Amino acid sequence: LLTVKGLSKSFRGLKALNNVTLEVRQGEILGLLGPNGSGKSTFINVVSGHFLPDGGEVWLDGKNIAGLPAHRIAQAGIARTYQIPRPFTQMSVLDNVAIAAMYAGKGLPTMEAGRNEARQWLAFAHLESKADSLPGDLNLHQRKFLELARALASRPRLVLLDEVLCGLTPTEIQSAVQLIKRIRDQGTTIVFVEHVMDAVMALTDRIVVFDQGLLLAEGAPQEVMQRPAVVEAYLGLAHA
Ligand code: ATP
Ligand code: MG
Repeated sequence: LLTVKGLSKSFRGLKALNNVTLEVRQGEILGLLGPNGSGKSTFINVVSGHFLPDGGEVWLDGKNIAGLPAHRIAQAGIARTYQIPRPFTQMSVLDNVAIAAMYAGKGLPTMEAGRNEARQWLAFAHLESKADSLPGDLNLHQRKFLELARALASRPRLVLLDEVLCGLTPTEIQSAVQLIKRIRDQGTTIVFVEHVMDAVMALTDRIVVFDQGLLLAEGAPQEVMQRPAVVEAYLGLAHA
């Protein structure tokens, strides 16, 4: 579905993404792992068009979308969540999702059409009862689910999830894992950036591990996490 070739992004000389090449297959949940600062969020930010890459290609089916503005990439079928949720704080929960539905430009010309679409995704994310609340009145768990509902409202083919489980209790994580399974079951391909290992093992078909902007390993979740190079990267020994 998505083919990334030689993708690079530096911040003032720091190579946050260093010549990354990888493939996301239609229908899979691909885990994107790596220590703090290894480039996972940068990968999401570049693929979703929030940062311009320094170099490389991002092919969504037959089309190179690298360097396109974020709204064009959203329209092409890629949605993302933010590691730190960023809802519009003055707008109701419902309207936050409605705006996301309209922004993707799939023939929802009015706010009312957006709201109809949004209600469906609020129900999907167990947030129906919060439709008229402001995002500030939600707890962390609900804010994370709002992020998911906003991403899904554009009916993406590929969704990039940036640490949606971070900070949740074990019970909330279980509920989120069920939700993510349902997202996959409806046919949406998922890139899953996450530090919560139990969930990674329960959800992902395949993982890739980043370290200092480089793609360090790729393969079956259990096997890859036991490789010495991956263990060393997580212990911070690889570059000592
Ligand atoms: P974490 O697990 O902590 O979320 P990450 O793998 O998502 O880490 P990134 O956020 O992609 O890591 O950061 C990769 C590197 O790029 C880090 O050294 C970070 O400080 C740097 N970086 C990321 N975004 C920016 C930015 N907007 N400006 C400057 N440096 C940045
Ligand atoms: Mg990150």
